[in-house]
Amino acid sequence: MEVYGAVQGVGFRPFVFRLAEDLDLAGWVINDTRGVFVEVEGPRERLEAFRDRLVVEKPPRSEIHAVEAAWLDPAGFEGFEIRHSDPGGEKTVVVLPDTATCDDCLAEVFDPADRRYRYPFTNCTNCGPRFSIIEAVPYDRPNTTMRIFPMCAECRREYEDPRDRRFHAQPNACPVCGPHLSLVDADGRLLAERDDALEGAAAAVEQGRILALKGLGGFLLIVDARSQAAVVGLRERKARYEKPLALMAADLDGARHLGEVSAEAVALLTGPEAPIVLLPRHPDAGVAEAVAPGNVFLGVMLPYTPLHHLLLRRLGFPVVATSGNLSDEPICIDETEALARLGGIADIFLVHDRPIARHVDDSVVAVVAGAPRPIRRARGYAPLPVRLDGPAPTLLAVGAHLKNTVALSVGERVFLSQHIGDMETVQALGAFERVIADFLGMYEAGPVAVVHDLHPDYASTRWAEGAVAGEGRLGGLPLVAVQHHHAHLASCLAENGGGRALGVTWDGTGYGTDGTVWGGEFLAGDAAGVERVAHLRPFRLPGGDAAVVEPRRSALAALWEVMGERVWDLGDVAAVAGFAAAERAPLGRMLATGFRTPTTTSCGRLFDAVAALGGLPSRVSFEGQAAMLLEHAVDPGVNDAYPLPLVEGSGPMVLDWGPLLEAVLGDMRRGVPVETVAGRFHNALVEGILAVAAAAGEPRVALTGGCFQNRILTERAAARLEGAGFEVLLHRRVPANDGGISLGQIAVASARWGGGKEEIA
Ligand code: ZN
Ligand code: ZN
Ligand code: FE
Repeated sequence: MEVYGAVQGVGFRPFVFRLAEDLDLAGWVINDTRGVFVEVEGPRERLEAFRDRLVVEKPPRSEIHAVEAAWLDPAGFEGFEIRHSDPGGEKTVVVLPDTATCDDCLAEVFDPADRRYRYPFTNCTNCGPRFSIIEAVPYDRPNTTMRIFPMCAECRREYEDPRDRRFHAQPNACPVCGPHLSLVDADGRLLAERDDALEGAAAAVEQGRILALKGLGGFLLIVDARSQAAVVGLRERKARYEKPLALMAADLDGARHLGEVSAEAVALLTGPEAPIVLLPRHPDAGVAEAVAPGNVFLGVMLPYTPLHHLLLRRLGFPVVATSGNLSDEPICIDETEALARLGGIADIFLVHDRPIARHVDDSVVAVVAGAPRPIRRARGYAPLPVRLDGPAPTLLAVGAHLKNTVALSVGERVFLSQHIGDMETVQALGAFERVIADFLGMYEAGPVAVVHDLHPDYASTRWAEGAVAGEGRLGGLPLVAVQHHHAHLASCLAENGGGRALGVTWDGTGYGTDGTVWGGEFLAGDAAGVERVAHLRPFRLPGGDAAVVEPRRSALAALWEVMGERVWDLGDVAAVAGFAAAERAPLGRMLATGFRTPTTTSCGRLFDAVAALGGLPSRVSFEGQAAMLLEHAVDPGVNDAYPLPLVEGSGPMVLDWGPLLEAVLGDMRRGVPVETVAGRFHNALVEGILAVAAAAGEPRVALTGGCFQNRILTERAAARLEGAGFEVLLHRRVPANDGGISLGQIAVASARWGGGKEEIA
């Protein structure tokens, strides 16, 4: 917590000390350049009591004007101490994330008597932009993109008045002195300004047109979510055909019309992070089918700046609000770039003159096993650190390939970047390089090594090799390669206090230490090293990654593994019969010879295979889509499971899905509905996990990797394992998917630093 106001020289630190002791909380307090900084640790209720009592019981001569707070990882402090300012000490700058508009500011924006009535850039010390406007630390106005707006006399008075809510609110602004809106067409011609611009944008959305809105951390594309034509038009222009689109509702009531809002979801939607939350969809949600085709969830967020509040209240209906980009490229942040890249997508642009310092996408969170689980970590969360169980050398980790993030360790803290995206476009690589330069600059860090994925062909790996070979600040540094699934496990361990566990690391693909494609691994160990104790039965996958959009190819390949070329005789299996005669010969040759046909243990591809056999689409448009459809198909009443025997031999144990596939085929032939097949398949995986856990003998089991975004798999596996006496570790701070890899890379490289321990036995 940063406490602002008249808090120095008035006995404030001893007061904080006594209050912490009284509530039996650990941590420390220090005077800094802006007030008093406190880190305090303990149970959440007592921390909330601490915050409340801090304000109420403050020393008589002190005045508190604002408290900025963020939730950090537990540090394991013992006792509470008063620290003395040490200008030469370690840089422990915590750059705070962007925070959704607070209730006080919102009330002002909608109060006709207030001088900030309808002002879209209203903020205070309790809310507003931070990470997206900070150009350098310390966080002071001259170091933000707000430096180009000199404060008017009234704003300056607030800024300098210790009794004001805007005391030292760096982005403080008002209609007189601050940023303003403009409405421009796709050719960049000015159409309207200020309130007229907002009105023009709203009218365009009402008419079914596509609006590009310059928001907090980048551009959003907005259309009327009720209009199938508008949503389909957006999908076509954006080349995003089936991936679910996020919605923005005007308020909590609006969100409740769209989906089921649990208590956890309310806390997320209305909290300072205000992410997109996956809500179980209402059958009568009233949005176009094209918003999330075939999906049982809707991704919903609430307005998080006054600009979004003003637009949504004016419209009175939910909108699609999706990243302003083409397909999987990074989000656009400035007007020139937006007009160039989004000119063919958006009809009209609502922009403003406050520069965005860096891209920050909307975060995505699902509530799984009773707690929030991040899927995409950006606005509201980044760049808050995750704390390791001990100090790490300063390391830069460059992440994986898809859903890339990077990480930087400084002391015990690992600063995790915002979501960067799939490293498949020039734009993504550019954003990746900017984020790395940004992090190294912001934390004034001099890494001692660069950590990357073991995969030799990842763009991030190649970049790391180039960087250490070059003349720049990373030139000459050693490289550390970390196996992908070891990084998944280490990531989950790092945010659960370290130690060791059996890692069920299931995802689509990752480069294995034997050069094959892993993805159905059971790795037992810790950050320093693991043993591959078991894996899913391997099979040859013709074309490798080409199969991610063609689930029937995974079905064919898995069946080939079980029955060889007799697979072509399965004329009654649609997924197989669908291959044209001309496709069969080359596929058969690839499977027989292994040419361009990597061996894989991928759980993601096994999901694809079962989905295709179950009659779900034989082609999809994004990785994991078939698996998602299979998850959503599950009949919750199905309690039995397909056979998935655990086979022990000389090497790692193997979960053999051969009998499972035979059983799926049998069920399909008998006309068993796909809902039942999906249920039996999920249950089989759960039983398989339990069998390996029982054989491995590790008391803790971590569920990590992209497959554990699957709510049914995660919740059932966690419940079954806990019922059998295991401690289950799940992600809470970073995604289970590859967005969490950079944290794991730091943890592994740090544990091995100077030790040279063999990574995977
Ligand atoms: Zn505020
Ligand atoms: Zn002003
Ligand atoms: Fe992965």
